[in-house]
Amino acid sequence: MIHTYKMNGYNIVLDVNSGSIHVTDDITYEILNAFDTMPTKEQVLSLFKGRNTEDRLTDVWQEIKELYDEGVLYSEDPQIALDPELSLYKGLKAICLHVAHDCNLRCEYCFASKGDYKTGRSLMSKEIALKALDYLVEHSGRRKNIEVDFFGGEPLMNFDVVKAAVEYGKSLEEKFGKKFFFTMTTNAVHVTEEQAEFLNEHMGNIVISLDGRKSVNDRMRKNAAGKGTYEQIVKNAKKITDNRKGKPYFIRGTFTSLNKDFSEDVRHIRSLGFREISIEPVTGKGESFHIKEEDLDDILREYEKFAIEYAKDDTDYRFYHFNIDIYDGPCLSKRITASGSGTEYVAVAPDGKIYPCHQFVGQEEFAIGDLETGITDRQMQLKFASAHVFGKEDCKGCWAKYFCSGGCHANAYYTNGDIFKPDKIACTLQKKRIECAIMIQVARS
Ligand code: SF4
Ligand code: SF4
Repeated sequence: MIHTYKMNGYNIVLDVNSGSIHVTDDITYEILNAFDTMPTKEQVLSLFKGRNTEDRLTDVWQEIKELYDEGVLYSEDPQIALDPELSLYKGLKAICLHVAHDCNLRCEYCFASKGDYKTGRSLMSKEIALKALDYLVEHSGRRKNIEVDFFGGEPLMNFDVVKAAVEYGKSLEEKFGKKFFFTMTTNAVHVTEEQAEFLNEHMGNIVISLDGRKSVNDRMRKNAAGKGTYEQIVKNAKKITDNRKGKPYFIRGTFTSLNKDFSEDVRHIRSLGFREISIEPVTGKGESFHIKEEDLDDILREYEKFAIEYAKDDTDYRFYHFNIDIYDGPCLSKRITASGSGTEYVAVAPDGKIYPCHQFVGQEEFAIGDLETGITDRQMQLKFASAHVFGKEDCKGCWAKYFCSGGCHANAYYTNGDIFKPDKIACTLQKKRIECAIMIQVARS
């Protein structure tokens, strides 16, 4: 299967199964678009008769044939058989530790019901946090590097437990031959000097939420009194990022149906001095801010316009949304199975319940166990492990499958009630994003 598209003056041809990318002239592009599989020379000469000289058409056909013979055009689908059972034995790689089911903000689009996941406001005890780290170590198999993401709500509302968990994790490293990598996702609305210093010393990565322009941020990201939070976030984000000493961070924004001109928000964040930026779409159902079918044309145009600008601008910032490694990405199995949620990665709630990922926390039917019993719902684990691109009907024939890995399970579930049915709007955005990412790399190469 091939996927062809035009962007920024390039005729781009992606060979889906081999991942090879070709930039062609117009006649080659037209010929490739006219056939679903390798054409014969006679077909090309007959269909394109009069469109170019016979010699030129023969040359083009010959070039296509050579690529076909090399296995980089119309290549076979690998259709590798994945045994979901095997993913249960890979060992845990990461946990998302919900240290706070509470939040100092009340963001309009919050997937976590303003921080409490509809389970009532609560903080994780130190005992549960340390037990979760023990659980990770015990179930990480032969992996050396393991990861804990402090998450909420707002994790800094339970800073003492974060500190205790980091200290405890470090104390386990030598004994068990493990190396912890700690990360935190914070809204950065209240960050003391001590906290900033601690985060910069111990967090291998920090994700700070800011949506861009003040008006855009404050429309969605409000505090409990209904006031905007832009000034505090920017001030505290600087307090952290100015002292990262080269360690990674990124500013993560969200765009909605109400700011389809989201590239302005990226530019704004960049103008504040931040260099690592991501802005993700809010899809879903039922709210005016959710990206809807009728928003798509505008958003796709915006993506393309921004990608063309970004393709020229390889200077001083990174926009993660276009950051897809097309030449040296993850291995095939990883590209097919994506996040490993439920098997390699789980989320732990403040009460010790274990879920396949943070977006399912609080949905009782998705609880797969707890820290006392361990993971007991193997069927649910197997279900998540089967939700790879070959397990979803929509993904099997999709040109984007090896870049997208089958989309977000939570998105699929909350939109279509089934983790095997991807959200169509999210798919449209994802495919455009991949096209943009490929074009950018073509332009920069
Ligand atoms: S900061 Fe995060 S958890 Fe808190 S209300 Fe906003 S989106 Fe929800
Ligand atoms: S874009 Fe949608 S259909 Fe295509 S692979 Fe991703 S989730 Fe599946």
